[in-house]
Amino acid sequence: MTSRWTPSSWRTKTVAQPVQYPSQEALSDVTKQLVSLPGLVTPYEIQSLRRQLRDVAQGKAFLLQAGDCAELFADCTPAKIEEKVKLQLLMSLIIIWGSRLPVVRVGRIAGQYAKPRSKPTETVVSERDGSTKQVPSFRGDNVNGFSQDDRIPDPRRLLSAYFYSAATLNHIRASLASGLADLHAPLSWTTAHVRSPTLAARFEAIVSNLTDALDFMRVVGAEQSQSVLRNLETVDYFSSHEGLMLEFEEALTRSSSISSSSISSSKSSSNTDNNKNNNKASNHHPVHTGTASTEYYALSAHTLWMGDRTRDPNGAHAEFFSGIANPIGIKVGPSMTSQELLDLLAKVDGSRGLDVGRITLICRFGRGKAPSLLGHLIAAVQASPWATSVIWCCDPMHGNTTSSPSDPRIKTRSFSDIITELKEQLEVHSSCGSRLAGVHLELTGEVDEKGDSVTECTGGAMSLEDGDLKARYRTHCDPRLNLEQSLDVSFLLSHALKA
Ligand code: PEP
Ligand code: MN
Repeated sequence: MTSRWTPSSWRTKTVAQPVQYPSQEALSDVTKQLVSLPGLVTPYEIQSLRRQLRDVAQGKAFLLQAGDCAELFADCTPAKIEEKVKLQLLMSLIIIWGSRLPVVRVGRIAGQYAKPRSKPTETVVSERDGSTKQVPSFRGDNVNGFSQDDRIPDPRRLLSAYFYSAATLNHIRASLASGLADLHAPLSWTTAHVRSPTLAARFEAIVSNLTDALDFMRVVGAEQSQSVLRNLETVDYFSSHEGLMLEFEEALTRSSSISSSSISSSKSSSNTDNNKNNNKASNHHPVHTGTASTEYYALSAHTLWMGDRTRDPNGAHAEFFSGIANPIGIKVGPSMTSQELLDLLAKVDGSRGLDVGRITLICRFGRGKAPSLLGHLIAAVQASPWATSVIWCCDPMHGNTTSSPSDPRIKTRSFSDIITELKEQLEVHSSCGSRLAGVHLELTGEVDEKGDSVTECTGGAMSLEDGDLKARYRTHCDPRLNLEQSLDVSFLLSHALKA
């Protein structure tokens, strides 16, 4: 007999990757303040994402979830936020252009501040004399600081995380409302920093074709339709992070009686274009037609995912995720067995009536492993009640992390391993009569003062080598694809998803 879910019922279970705070009192002071603050997103926006993810699950749209491994509070600047959003816009334009599928854009942004770690301590080198020492691992800005002298967990950082997330979301919303994603001006999403002439030329060809198409639509008057115009002028952009810090998530989980079923059906019946949506336009309010049932929403982000290290079906994280109405992701690593996956699906979705698109399975095995591991999992899901409701997504990053041969302290990833895993997962799906419906990437459009991109993953259009890594290695956690490598992946997807 399972006991009733509440936002705090996870407290009765074992918490993986716990944070040991020096003072529980200081932690509860912080959570009390969080409880009284407004949510960072609204249940209505969450339902809007749910609706769009339903299209993804049904093969009518593609999911692009991407961003930093670990966001830093210091990254909350207008330039850095815009760089991130613009890169995802560029990528989605490329994917849409080739695949003719709408793209649902979800950023690892506005809250991706906590990290699970494989070891509780790490070795750091003194800049002064080169000596080494062990310090508690950096767990992300909302736990401790990156500076080696600032590794004691401080609960006040959770409050800072809330306000940095709010500022980031505010800037994203304001930028989109001010035309950042206006398709009439895609050239202003400049490719000036794209160092590969081939990539820049391929993107400019798309923009030139798009400009022609828009011109044609203007001439024939198609743009006069308000809904067409709205879709050309802006897009939806959703936030996500790993739902690791359950005290934080609990404090921002609120009940709401927005009517999910009535909104979903009224929208999906009248709306075949998944971009025709509403959290951007004030004249598009939810249509409440049915009886509203009360549901709990985690209002820290539109969607949360469960990490590969915290996905125990009997653990605290699965308990928390089972009760929220948000769409959720589950990282699926090489150790996941078919039975464990089915147990987890039963735990987090068993009582929810199989909402199509609520669960995204984010598979991250590592190059060479999908052919032997993924087929079993797909077959198990195909034979289960979740056969047509999950979204299969590929994270080609996390199974492909290696150490630099010249400096084992530097984590890197090879672009060719990333592409190989992505192609392998695409192939396994097609041989199983299934469909890869999304990708989950760590990337950044960040460039330095000279306009050069980061050097964290080797290979790609600029043929980065191990010796190049130190030039502009900026990540504070896992290595990210840079601007050129991200565009390369988009062209590959754009081609692979062509009908
Ligand atoms: C991550 O997405 O940054 C991460 C830690 O992933 P995983 O849980 O798949 O290792
Ligand atoms: Mn990572």
